[in-house]
This record gives sequence, structure tokens and C-alpha cells, in this order.
Amino acid sequence: MNKNAELVIIGAGAAGLLAAVAAARLGIKALVLESSELVGGDTATGSGQMWLPATHLAATAGIFDSVENAVEYLGTILGEETQASTSIRRAVFANTAPKLARWLAASNLPLTLDRGVPDYHPADAGGLPEGRVVTTVPTDRRSLGDWAEKLRSKSPVEEASHLKQFVRAFTGSEGHAATGGEALVAELLRRATANGVEIRLDAQIISLENNDGIEVGVHVEGEDEILRPKALLLSAGGFAGSQELREEYLPLPTNAEWSLMSHNTGKLLKLAAGLGAQLSAMNDAWWTPVTVIDGRAYSLDAARKAPHSLIVDQAGDRYIDEAAPGAQIVNRQYQRSRGTRTIPSYLIMDQRHRKAVGLGPWAAGDTKGESEDLYSAKTLGGLADLLGIDEPGFLGTVVRFNGFAHKGEDQDFHRGESVWDRYALAHSKHAHVASLGKLTKKPYWAVKVYPGDEGTKGGLLIDENSQVIDTQGETIPGFYACGGAAASIMKGTSPGPGAALSEALVEAYLAVIHFSKHRGLG
Ligand SMILES: Cc1cc2nc3c(=O)[nH]c(=O)nc-3n(C[C@H](O)[C@H](O)[C@H](O)COP(=O)(O)OP(=O)(O)OC[C@H]3O[C@@H](n4cnc5c(N)ncnc54)[C@H](O)[C@@H]3O)c2cc1C
Repeated sequence: MNKNAELVIIGAGAAGLLAAVAAARLGIKALVLESSELVGGDTATGSGQMWLPATHLAATAGIFDSVENAVEYLGTILGEETQASTSIRRAVFANTAPKLARWLAASNLPLTLDRGVPDYHPADAGGLPEGRVVTTVPTDRRSLGDWAEKLRSKSPVEEASHLKQFVRAFTGSEGHAATGGEALVAELLRRATANGVEIRLDAQIISLENNDGIEVGVHVEGEDEILRPKALLLSAGGFAGSQELREEYLPLPTNAEWSLMSHNTGKLLKLAAGLGAQLSAMNDAWWTPVTVIDGRAYSLDAARKAPHSLIVDQAGDRYIDEAAPGAQIVNRQYQRSRGTRTIPSYLIMDQRHRKAVGLGPWAAGDTKGESEDLYSAKTLGGLADLLGIDEPGFLGTVVRFNGFAHKGEDQDFHRGESVWDRYALAHSKHAHVASLGKLTKKPYWAVKVYPGDEGTKGGLLIDENSQVIDTQGETIPGFYACGGAAASIMKGTSPGPGAALSEALVEAYLAVIHFSKHRGLG
């Protein structure tokens, strides 16, 4: 292990690896410590979309955007400043996003604009109907050589997406293809290792040190000496995988089982807090409604947007536009749960929906799969009985919903009307039909809907240079944090698909730039 590293990066997800590549390009000796035996973190299991406003990719596609627009949009949707979501951090994020995209392009990392993907709130000031979401072009894992087997994979369910065919065409073999978040991590990993960055896997951190603001330290299990680099960057993700921390900080009820495959337990956040670092935004997460089938969480993104389905609470009432962005649904679910039983809620589907849309582990059309978490009945009354929800209320809700579907207008929650709803549908097989479709074809189906997440938003409070701030409001010299480990600026909402990852990358980039400018000055 390189004991003379100037910068020690803890965590090898997208944020940590981007920092490693940036450090190598700036001539900084970096060492990456990763606790698991695989590289890639939650990033590698995700879709890898990045919300990057005002990029050259948008400009090339003829889409007008600007940093000013992005700042205005963030101000509109995020509202009042908070400790973590300051106007300076928002502005620096918007200003750095296009620079980061150019820097990645200059590093030959193949990004592509996800055409047609709108912001979550495109009608708000500064919002856009498309142009801010980018992804990494699929890549071949074999190009990583020996590192290929150390790269975390997407789950088989995620992989069974529409990308498969495209990937087969691209690499000639889907078995070796990395797509989405896995592709991004693969590209960063290749550059980090090619530039000689040492990545130590299975490195368990025993303690962190902060000697009166003079020196940071990190003690790795099995090493006699404490590492004392010029700077530490914490990029070890959030705490979605820790039931204990969830119960301490997130709204209740909460369950680590409702998180989409999080590997991160927040252990180092607690260690850092013990050194005086301030935690912030700990009650928030990148929310998304999920169902749990046989102990595993699945996204309901496709299923809840498709026609012939609706979501009800335990009184059998609808309470939300089912196609809305995930954060909106989960926030409403928690808010409503104070007066009505909404956790879990139920996604109700008819037979047409099940034949046309994948659900949990089952592909579209697979109506034979069984689980005690999947409910089915020949009548709506029978389904209500099975779920233990109020039957008259539930039947009334479906009759009213079917009436809206008949007219093509959801007078209660306006499902299918917003730009986001229309995109959400256009992107599915159901582009030709409205989001509203009657539930009339038996049998009827249901799964539970839980307030799930794609990671937590709370973490170490950082400034606009990703420097960690202590409980006295002062920065801790040589201590940086980014991504899931840092408190997000995106309080209560999200500007568009991919904001978690873009924030993580921007913060990692800013940390390395800041360290590079100040490393000789300490
Ligand atoms: C299914 C899914 C889909 C998603 N899709 C998207 C998307 O499309 N766009 C988007 O913006 N966001 C998405 N997200 C969220 C996104 O993946 C995260 O916000 C992003 O991965 C954060 O990057 P990170 O580098 O901070 O964390 P991670 O990628 O999780 O990396 C953290 C790393 O730190 C390591 N680590 C943890 N603890 C320690 C320790 N004690 N010591 C050393 N190392 C440690 C972990 O093993 C891991 O390798 C998705 C998440 C999920 C689960």
C-alpha cells in the first residue's frame, strides 16, 4: 500500500473513482481504499443517468441551456436555503456541471445525451423539457483486463431491460457488456488504473483522525501505521443499508429492505461525526416507490406509470398522480400516513397491465410467477378482501378512476397531463395509449407500495469546495466529502433524473481541484 499518498480516497464508487482519475491527471499521488471486494458501489447497480445542465452535448444537439437557467431552476424548485442547500453550493454545482462534462469528454469518456428526457419540473422557471440528462455509452467489461472481475455488476433484473438488444449489437455479447452506472464505473476504473492509481480492495477502516485541524489520519485494519496523507476524501456513500441509522434519522416507518440494493452502511459518517464533522440533511433520501417481493426491493417506475393501474391507500382511496416523479409520491405517502394508513399502499393492476408490463422479478406477460407478496383475485371485491382494505371505498375509487379513463382526464390528480408524465409514458411500450386506462379485465392484481429509496441524501456538511464543515461552522483542513457521504443540496426534491450521480461527480471533482490548488500551502 502506498503510504506516501498525498490524497486518500475512501470508497470506490463513481465519486471516488472520478476523484482518483482527476487526481492522477493533476499529478497528485492518490490511494483508493474500498471496503468491499468489488469496485463500483451503488453506482454500478444503477441506471447511471446524470443530470448535467448546460453541457456541450445539449448545445451540439441544438438545445439552448445556460448556467443561469440552471441556477434559476434550482432556486425555484429548492426554495429557501438550508445549511446544506446554500445558494453558493447550488450556483457552484450549476457552474461546474458543464465543465465536468467537458473534462470527461476531454478524457475520452464516452457520454451521450439522453434525448427527450425532461426535468422533473420543466414548467418551472429555468426548467427544460429535455437536454440535461446524459449517460455513458455501453462498454465491454473485457477491456478492463484483470479488473473486469472486480467490477460490481448490475442485477440480472436491471439487465433484462430494453438495453439488452442494443448492447448485444454494440459488444457482440451481452454477457460482457457494461451499461448505465456499470459502464460509467468501468470507464473511470480503466482510467484510474491506467494512470497508476492504487486501489486497495477489502480495506476496512478502523478509525479516522483529525489532529487539531493540523493533520488527518486513517487507520486501516491489518496496517501497523496510521496513514497521514495531506488530505482525505470520504466517498463511501450514504447510510441506506443501515436499519439503525435509518431509524435514527429518516421518517418512520423505514426499512433498509425498501432501499434498492444499497451496500452502504454509513459507518464512516459516524466516525467522522465523532471527530467533530457536522451531519446535515439526514432526514432525506433519493426517494422512489418500491415493492418488496420475497425480501428484495424492486422499483415500480414502469409499472405505476402504465395504464390499467392505480395506487390506493389502505382505505381504498387514491391520493396521488401515480406517474409523478418518485420523490413526490414518497413525500406524499409519508405526509398522508400521519392521518391515513398509506404505508404500505397498494398498486392495483388488471390483467392487461400484467400482460404488458414487467413487475418485480416477472417479465411482461409472465403471469404464472407466484409469491406471497403478489396478490390476485377474480374480482375487485375479492382483491379488496385479500388486501384487507375497505371494499366499498375501493370499489368507488375504481369506478371513479374508470370514469376518468373513459373521458381521458384525471380530474382528481391530473395523471398523464404534465410533461414529465407524458415522457414517462412515451418512453415505455405504451406510447400509443394514454396513462389512464380502465381496470376492467380480470383477474386483478396487487403488490404493496413502500416509501423506498435509491440512497440517502444526508451526510457530512460540506462547503462549495467539498470541504467538510465542523459543528462550529469551520472547515476541517484536508478533509473532503462527496456524493452519498456528503449532505445533498437537493433538499426535498430532485431537479431531474440523475441528480444524485451528477452531484456526486461534481463534488468529487471540486474536492480534487481545491486540494490541488492548496496542497502546497498547508
Ligand atoms: C438501483 C439504483 C439506481 C440508481 N440510478 C441512479 C441514476 O440513474 N442516476 C443517479 O443520479 N443516481 C442513481 N442512483 C443513486 C446513485 O447510484 C448514487 O447516488 C451514487 O451511486 C452515489 O455515488 P457514490 O460514489 O457516492 O456512492 P457509491 O457508488 O455507493 O460508492 C460508495 C463506495 O464506498 C464503499 N464503502 C462504503 N463504506 C465504506 C467504508 N467504510 N470503507 C471503505 N469503502 C466504503 C462502497 O463499498 C462503495 O464502493 C441509483 C441508485 C440505485 C440503488
